Amino acid sequence: MSAPLDKIKSNVRAITAYTLSPLEAPIKINQNENPFGMPAEIKQEVLRRAAEQDWARYPEFVPSSLIEKLAKYSGWRADGVMAGNGSNEMIQSVINSTVEKGVLVVLPEPTFSVYRQVIQVAGGEVASVPLKENLTFDIPRIKHEIVSRKADLAIICSPNNPTGCTISRDELTDILESTSGLIIVDQAYLELGGEDFVPLLEQYKNLVILRTFSKAMAMGGLRVGYCLAAPELITEFNKAKMPYSLNFFSMTAAEVALENLALLDPLVARMRSEKERLFVELQQIDGISPVPSEANFFVVKTAIPPKKLFEELHSRGILIRDISKAPMLSEYVRISVGTPEENDRLIQSLHEIFKQ
Ligand SMILES: *Cc1c(COP(=O)(O)O)cnc(C)c1O
Repeated sequence: MSAPLDKIKSNVRAITAYTLSPLEAPIKINQNENPFGMPAEIKQEVLRRAAEQDWARYPEFVPSSLIEKLAKYSGWRADGVMAGNGSNEMIQSVINSTVEKGVLVVLPEPTFSVYRQVIQVAGGEVASVPLKENLTFDIPRIKHEIVSRKADLAIICSPNNPTGCTISRDELTDILESTSGLIIVDQAYLELGGEDFVPLLEQYKNLVILRTFSKAMAMGGLRVGYCLAAPELITEFNKAKMPYSLNFFSMTAAEVALENLALLDPLVARMRSEKERLFVELQQIDGISPVPSEANFFVVKTAIPPKKLFEELHSRGILIRDISKAPMLSEYVRISVGTPEENDRLIQSLHEIFKQ
């Protein structure tokens, strides 16, 4: 008799689960979140609307009023918008409707590790294209890999997590024209940097854009993401998504956030300016060197082992991300931009650690 575990797909058993250190600290700069949090006015309005809802009833089958607002916000047609439980669910839905055994996905790496996880669970094959030595995209090589291997898909994260590099509009257009494969661009950090590729959707039917409320929009805990693409594709992607994956509370929160961008925009502007300041300050510390980034985080090369730096900072109440297991990044950690006070504490702690 075979063991129950033998029934698990070999490609699932072969991978390790997505993990995050369970440690906590007063200063949490390990997940690229909005450090200022959601403005109280928005929270109050969400709670008020949620209290008026009938919690016994299922949410809308298609979240049409949110989708209308997303269409307006992004500048794309409503029938080309899908919304769900975080952009992670959007990644899963896109991959599950396209990838099976024998399907090849080009992936510049290091990048967000969820892509590789979902592709491998679906049984697909990854063609990894390393970043250049300066940790930016190697566009000619990405294009060559897509064209020469007739890749079915490519996923490009812009700005890229964890390195913060971006692809330009001209570079993306060049790739889109060279292939009939789907080019998925994850723009989780668009509010913080990188070019907006929505204007390309009309012309390029093989472009798929993913976005989220989890980062600049201060809603990581509520899980709302969305996908923008040609309506024909969205119809298919929706079939690979669970019904009701977006609960009415999160749906309401996303709508209220979009109605109150004037309250969120200043926070995003502060994230951007703090990022500029933090970069300059980090550059002045002997023993570390931050890599320029278009998003609210940096990979930072460290003269002491990443694990040691992680522990030194944790003992001072600061939680960063040890990303040293990622390809090319064995000497790096990732640091997210915090509030001005948090950034001051970080800078002071780093001066202490590297003076020793
Ligand atoms: C954080 C992040 C996401 C967010 O996913 P959600 O499920 O929307 O929270 C998606 N893509 C990238 C590249 C990220 O860094």
